[in-house]
Amino acid sequence: MLVLGIETSCDETGVALYCSQKGLIADALYSQIEMHNEYGGVVPELASRDHVKKLLPLIQSVLDQAGITNKEVDAVAYTKGPGLVGALMVGTMTARAIAFAWGVPALGVHHMEGHLLAPMLEETPPEFPFVALLVSGGHTQLVQVDGIGQYALLGESLDDAAGEAFDKAAKMMKLPYPGGPHIARLAEQGTAGRFKFPRPMVDRPGLEFSFSGLKTYTLNTVLAIEKAQGELEEQDKADIAHAFQEAVVETLAIKCRRALEQTGMKQLVMAGGVSANTRLREKLEDALAKVGGKVFYARPEFCTDNGAMIAFAGCQRLKAGQQDDLAVKPVARWPLTELPAI
Ligand code: ATP
Ligand code: MG
Ligand code: FE
Repeated sequence: MLVLGIETSCDETGVALYCSQKGLIADALYSQIEMHNEYGGVVPELASRDHVKKLLPLIQSVLDQAGITNKEVDAVAYTKGPGLVGALMVGTMTARAIAFAWGVPALGVHHMEGHLLAPMLEETPPEFPFVALLVSGGHTQLVQVDGIGQYALLGESLDDAAGEAFDKAAKMMKLPYPGGPHIARLAEQGTAGRFKFPRPMVDRPGLEFSFSGLKTYTLNTVLAIEKAQGELEEQDKADIAHAFQEAVVETLAIKCRRALEQTGMKQLVMAGGVSANTRLREKLEDALAKVGGKVFYARPEFCTDNGAMIAFAGCQRLKAGQQDDLAVKPVARWPLTELPAI
């Protein structure tokens, strides 16, 4: 089955072709980051308008790149939610219209299921069951995954998502949006031990997270330096970035290890934008090796939003006969645990 996947939930237009026999055939991404950068974050209306401009040409370019005509496409998968409603609307309506015109089924995919399954596009994919750590701009969740659509929430952030905390900490240091990759890069030059940030909620049992305190801690550190010397120097930023990243990464690693111990599972799959973080990968591999655990993740470009993950997740469900009717609507909020099993 050859599936065209469309992702437009936020500020990335992603399109891909996934074949159930041959794997990923083509994928393309257009990121709006530069456009939103001057506002310090995503402006929803601008995001929708840009998806309108970019989506159809991107679909055409993916088909051309693969040397495939629309007659060969068996189904269309698109992100139905969660995300920005206007942005989702563009992908949903385009996907539905195309599927109708081509006479093929269409299916709305859950954006976080897309992230969650993205590591399965790699050469050594994880096998069910496993524990998933979803760490993105809007989510920080530990999920027990017994199969597609068989998801049990083990714990999640009570406030900010990890990626959101990275972005907000970066903003406090006047780094561009999204801040995660900038913090990660700066952290490499940071002096270990100059600052020690708290590890929120690790001394409590359970698998919940909280990152808003870390954000306040970052702000107070920035303000204290500004008060003492005025503007932050590059080295100050690097030292804060280092301390911040260590705190987030260690907190995530502790909870992941706990989740494996609690469930008795040996495989941890991490997905979402923050899973691109190399320090997190390193730390998780170390922490989980101690309990005989193995970590799986996607290549960096499939950690953040992309069309390939939607084509892949959609293909699994479409193959099982699932499809949506013409009246489908995008949904801004949609718990992962509401998805049906296949
Ligand atoms: P969601 O998937 O929850 O709806 P989203 O789609 O906005 O949110 P993603 O695209 O999965 O989120 O990921 C974007 C987030 O990942 C941003 O917060 C960004 O700062 C963060 N991020 C990307 N690369 C890195 C990195 N190397 N280190 C830390 N954070 C990163
Ligand atoms: Mg994005
Ligand atoms: Fe995402």
